[in-house]
Amino acid sequence: MTLFDSPSFEGHEGVHSFYDEKTGLKAIVAVHSTARGPACGGTRMWPYESAEAALEDVLKLSRAMSYKNAVADLDLGGGKSVIIGDSRTQKSPALFEAFGRAVDSLGGRYWAAEDVGVSPSDLTAARRTTRFVAGLEGTPASSGDPSPVTAEGVFRGTLLVARKLWGASDLSGLTVAVQGVGHVGGYLADKLHAAGAKLIVTDVNQITLKAVAERTNAEIVAPDAIFDAKADIFAPCALGGAVNASTIDRLKGRAVVGAANNQLSGPEIGEELFRRGVLYAPDYVVNGGGIINVAAEVRALAAGGAFDAAWVETKLARLMQTLGEILDRSAAEKRPPHELAAEIARARINAAKDARAAA
Ligand code: NAD
Repeated sequence: MTLFDSPSFEGHEGVHSFYDEKTGLKAIVAVHSTARGPACGGTRMWPYESAEAALEDVLKLSRAMSYKNAVADLDLGGGKSVIIGDSRTQKSPALFEAFGRAVDSLGGRYWAAEDVGVSPSDLTAARRTTRFVAGLEGTPASSGDPSPVTAEGVFRGTLLVARKLWGASDLSGLTVAVQGVGHVGGYLADKLHAAGAKLIVTDVNQITLKAVAERTNAEIVAPDAIFDAKADIFAPCALGGAVNASTIDRLKGRAVVGAANNQLSGPEIGEELFRRGVLYAPDYVVNGGGIINVAAEVRALAAGGAFDAAWVETKLARLMQTLGEILDRSAAEKRPPHELAAEIARARINAAKDARAAA
């Protein structure tokens, strides 16, 4: 299969592969769209079983970033990068310096940030060789770890969904099944617990799992059993594709609201959820808090100013308003939320393309 035949190729502006002999870096950067501004999206380090699997992932993730940044109304396009490797054993400062050189060669068309397997300290190493990296710590412009803001958005989205489905003002009496209690899932579990939800949690990392379960009084289940949990809301916070043809029949709840990117294995799953009366909060809408936080750093660096937390809050509040509008329209127009979210994103991207063409 070639790039252009891939089912995940959707008019990507550029797909760049990088190899560094000295460090063994194998990375792919996909720039989906720069219509709204420089492409921005996280860097994922994952032991992909093949280069083809890595390519598929980066194509899907970068397109989702275009949609996410557009729905959050950020002056950013969509891009993403993947580093093929095991983040537990194959990381080194030199590897991230090599990655920084790769990003730098794109001349600012792509800004890297944190994603699964990559931490702010890795990005600090990349910053030594490129300025096009955000999500760092230690300078006035720095936005730090985006996970708490992502979790805050997912939490507010969960409250919104609970209000729509059950008329609830908090989460007491509701059970949420959280798949993956890493950076975002851990913060989210704390917030859900504080709002009165009963939690059922899982993770493949037993240490993190135990710590989160203890402090949130959660029931622990095995990774595969999370799909059968008797929960009102399923919160996928691990990797993509959690809701697919084989798991959809096992879900017991009335809503899916989580942090993971690309939660649905395909749009047909979104249609099926809708047909079954399961409310799906589109992933790239509900998890947009983190990129808003990163965008605040890009904005501060461009202006030579400082990180502005109030700007982040204004953007996050507006994004949650957009989520509310999507869910209301879904009920009124009897159309799946993922379809409406994509429509809004595409319209904004196309408007930016038209404006660029006319300039
Ligand atoms: P993370 O690596 O800190 O957490 C993911 C957790 O999922 C880990 O603890 C991992 O052990 C666990 N996990 C992996 N496979 C699993 C499985 N099969 N079953 C159960 N648990 C499993 O990553 P994160 O930063 O918390 O991100 C979580 C998800 O949210 C990812 O899909 C990421 O792309 C998405 N996301 C993150 C942010 C952010 O700000 N960090 C922003 C937007 C979207």
